[in-house]
Amino acid sequence: MEDIQAYIKRRNKLLNSINKGIAIIPNNDEIKRSQDSNYPYSFDNYFYYLTGFKEPKSVLILDFIHKKSILFCRDKDQLEERWEGIRFGVEKAKEVLQVDEAYPISNFNAKLSEYLQDVEEIYYALGEKPSYDDIIIEAVKRLRRLTRSGINAANTIININSVIDEMRLIKDEWEITQLKIASQISVQAHIEVMQNIKNMSYEYEVHAKLMEVFYRHNTTAAYECIIGGGKNACILHYIQNNEKLNPNELLLIDAGCVYNGYVSDLTRTFPVSGKFSKAQRAIYEIVLEANKEAIKEVKIGNSWDKPNQATILVLTQGLIDIGLLSGSVEENIERETYKQFYMHRFGHWLGLDVHDVGKYKINNEWRKFEHGMCTTVEPGLYISPSANVPQEYWNIGVRIEDNILLDKSENIYLNYALPKEVDDIEKLINSH
Ligand code: MG
Ligand code: ZN
Repeated sequence: MEDIQAYIKRRNKLLNSINKGIAIIPNNDEIKRSQDSNYPYSFDNYFYYLTGFKEPKSVLILDFIHKKSILFCRDKDQLEERWEGIRFGVEKAKEVLQVDEAYPISNFNAKLSEYLQDVEEIYYALGEKPSYDDIIIEAVKRLRRLTRSGINAANTIININSVIDEMRLIKDEWEITQLKIASQISVQAHIEVMQNIKNMSYEYEVHAKLMEVFYRHNTTAAYECIIGGGKNACILHYIQNNEKLNPNELLLIDAGCVYNGYVSDLTRTFPVSGKFSKAQRAIYEIVLEANKEAIKEVKIGNSWDKPNQATILVLTQGLIDIGLLSGSVEENIERETYKQFYMHRFGHWLGLDVHDVGKYKINNEWRKFEHGMCTTVEPGLYISPSANVPQEYWNIGVRIEDNILLDKSENIYLNYALPKEVDDIEKLINSH
């Protein structure tokens, strides 16, 4: 529980932004992996954003009429705690999280019916958690049957997530600190791989090094690491990570850790041998220029599409320059010929989720960058064997992904310490 005030502030902001109804925000359920064993627990990011609480079987209710926060969580239980670990329990949770009321989760169904009486609007993300959908729909049905005794049931269910998404898109100070730490640890992991790559023969050895650094800092991977040697770099979500590394090929690593729920999402591509070939370097430098030009366009007031356009322009021009496309830049952009080699967008929001929440378009227009937003910038080129491509470029896949936090004084380049210039990368690999 690092900074309880940050969570209280967010709850208050939400409580003050809506004037009627109640919100129901359940945490994630545990997911069974096999008999008697679950997958590592992962909390619901909406619930966590408003509570900081990491225990399963918990629900937050926000009462917009009385401006109250109510938490449901597991009660203390000696026997269960013997097997599963110590839990907060209702009293401590109330005290530490500073909610107005707290109850055992076993009372949730009964209490919910009370809270829903005469409430017109329910703010709830219907469809996200089927077990809670059933509970809430049942509670509403029960209340409808009580109309004749003067009790009214809600008529409207509004998706609370879309309200919280807009809050989550703009990071507060505490979140920025977590993003910085996540980035620092991830940078360290990428650097240690580069320093040791000459002693590694398989993709999974790279995986082991990344995880070693994450675990050493008491974190873990924010998403499945992508470690693609040679042709595997051209598979965008390659997570098998089990093939042999070839010294003549490039290695693409897309990996980042999660710190206090906040993630880092970084990609570097470098030669396994420590020296780019001419063809590898040609592709790499096009992507690097696209990355830098896009970063220049990530600025407050610019629309989200600006860096996207910059990326497409640089990549298309580069592909023409080396002969992989022919004709004018305009014509190639118009016909989207670059999509043979570049098939995603320049980036995505970053935060509690790797592909973080928040709209990209508002009223059908690309939204503008604002202070406190965090985005990745990750152009790439992926060249699969093809009749229209000279063989020297086959199976070269390059992506360079950085994380940028928008700031009204000066953007924060979260992973500035991770080299991306050709010379710096070669030097780093060869210095060990
Ligand atoms: Mg990534
Ligand atoms: Zn990404």
